Amino acid sequence: MARSEHPTESSRSTIVVHCDDCGDVRLAPHEVTIRTCVDDGGVTYRFVCAQCGLPSVGSTSAAAGRRAVEAGSQTEEWTYPGELFETHEGSAIDGLDVLAFRALLREPDWFDDLLRVHVERGGHAGRER
Ligand SMILES: [Zn+2]
Repeated sequence: MARSEHPTESSRSTIVVHCDDCGDVRLAPHEVTIRTCVDDGGVTYRFVCAQCGLPSVGSTSAAAGRRAVEAGSQTEEWTYPGELFETHEGSAIDGLDVLAFRALLREPDWFDDLLRVHVERGGHAGRER
């Protein structure tokens, strides 16, 4: 996927961001948060669209992000979820596992069944009864 250059225009008063539903939208710098990923250095931004009112995100270049911050945007850092670095045992989840899980969710006591299996395998129930 091509990296967008949004926010493309930073001035003292507006930044152009891209909403997937509304297209290019102008916002005040303080309405855009520039996000930097600590793990890969990628720069993204988040905002609430002024037209549709929905939260949205986009990727941008480091230079465009820097210009937005200079214009008054807030910054934040984020890291990959810790689960990415966990060691997993067993085979990967496949389509049959997903179908079995969907069938399980139709059962009224699915959560209690899940807890029971977890505890039987040596896990902790996580709540006192
Ligand atoms: Zn929108």
